[in-house]
Amino acid sequence: MLEQLKRAGLKLTPQRIAIVRELATDLTHPTAQDLFERLRPTYPTMSFATVYNTLDALAKLGLVGALRLGSAVRFDPNTTVHHHAVCDACGIVVDLPASPPPPSVTRSIEEAHDFQVRVEERTYRGRCGRCAHVGQ
Ligand SMILES: [Zn+2]
Ligand SMILES: [Zn+2]
Repeated sequence: MLEQLKRAGLKLTPQRIAIVRELATDLTHPTAQDLFERLRPTYPTMSFATVYNTLDALAKLGLVGALRLGSAVRFDPNTTVHHHAVCDACGIVVDLPASPPPPSVTRSIEEAHDFQVRVEERTYRGRCGRCAHVGQ
């Protein structure tokens, strides 16, 4: 990921490297704010704009996924096509395996809506195991 950032012309500052490292191993789909708060104790001079712009650049290069859930954009180091399950109560996001949609589905979307499907990504909403138990 770092190598590709450099090739895209972004200077690899220690702060940017830290942001990439933090996200690369994070499977919780953090927001820019989450990462900013986590890194701030180690990098007190880091600004939110640095975190956001770095994540935005990574997303534009296709090196991370950007997932819009409600008003928040959550970043995802998993760039393979996959679905998500989102907990209504705690907001946890879980990766689910995805298989490509059947050609008949994409064809009917193309015909009915004049839209070429690239990928199918679904979001399932409900309660994670932990929150389901609390509610009982
Ligand atoms: Zn939950
Ligand atoms: Zn994901």
